[in-house]
Amino acid sequence: MSVRWGLIGASTIAKQFMINAIRAQGDGEIIAVMSSNAERAKTYAGENGIPVGVSTLDALLNAGIDAVYISTTNELHLEQALAAIRAGKHVLCEKPLALTSADAREMVAAAKAAGIVLGTNHHLRNAGAHRALRDAIAAGRIGRPVAARVFHSVYLPENLQGWRITKPEAGGGVVLDITVHDADTLRFVLGDDPVEISAFTQSAGMAGGGLEDGAMCIWRFKSGVIAQSHEGFTTRFAGTGFEVHGSEGSLFACNVMTQKPVGSILLRTAAGDEDLSFDREDLYTRSLRQFHAAIRGEGQPSATGEDGVWSLAAAEAALQSARSGKAVIIDPKLGSAA
Ligand code: NDP
Repeated sequence: MSVRWGLIGASTIAKQFMINAIRAQGDGEIIAVMSSNAERAKTYAGENGIPVGVSTLDALLNAGIDAVYISTTNELHLEQALAAIRAGKHVLCEKPLALTSADAREMVAAAKAAGIVLGTNHHLRNAGAHRALRDAIAAGRIGRPVAARVFHSVYLPENLQGWRITKPEAGGGVVLDITVHDADTLRFVLGDDPVEISAFTQSAGMAGGGLEDGAMCIWRFKSGVIAQSHEGFTTRFAGTGFEVHGSEGSLFACNVMTQKPVGSILLRTAAGDEDLSFDREDLYTRSLRQFHAAIRGEGQPSATGEDGVWSLAAAEAALQSARSGKAVIIDPKLGSAA
């Protein structure tokens, strides 16, 4: 039986990646798209071969669908997800799940009570590169992990220089946009949870409205691993990467903090240098495959709702640290709410 999808949000990410990823599944079908603007809904539906474009959530939820993909601006995710959950639809929601981790916990609790599948679209854990890093560490190839470094400062493409850099009320800023991904990827690759973070943020000339367009964070993990991450919107030539350094070796992954299945990984140990090969499947297609399996009762989405709470709790703590000038404890409070 196919999974019939409704898209909430006539967004760039859906157009660039998610529509294709749904259609790449043998059992995925897109039934309708919702935009807040009726004309835009119609145009977007037409341009993307979607049968129906609607302008209300009710109309979308009543269009004969099984699941929704939410990719509106961040302040809308919570209410839209709760409405979909009430209507019994499975929910794949974009990151950040909401504007606060308390709201994200409410989403997770509602999904759990309703027995529906909730996933967070953290694409990077679906990357072959990050799975290879995780596997190499779990196999002991670098001994005991000691430290990690994440290089994720990019140049925000001109077509995306909208709400992210102008609207605090929509959940703009680089921390809710990119630090959440770094939180999730660090947790995934290290197989560990962060407990504390210290952050500096900046406004380097692109973002307005008091929003940050650059951040540097220092993280401490449960195991004692420390990490640093750099997120930005304003660096055209920085390149991206992910490194993990251990007692017996180091992993250097280049060009891997990206939406595409690209990049390279070098393992350096006393035995010398080794290039690690990895799977090059499209990240979003893999995410969708796991989500469909979860709907069938086989496993979980690659990033669950709880994972989305974790990444948002970390981003929240980073923002709080940047404001206060102090290190902040990361506490997703999952035990009590989820
Ligand atoms: P967009 O700005 O493209 O879309 C967000 C909303 O803005 C849309 O729902 C739409 O509202 C409105 N909009 C978009 N384009 C136009 C336009 N030309 N004219 C008028 N309104 C427009 O955002 P993104 O696709 O970049 O991001 C959407 C969500 O996805 C965010 O939560 C973001 O964090 C997340 N994201 C996740 C990524 C990932 O890899 N996991 C990557 C990129 C984004 P309406 O629907 O009402 O028409």
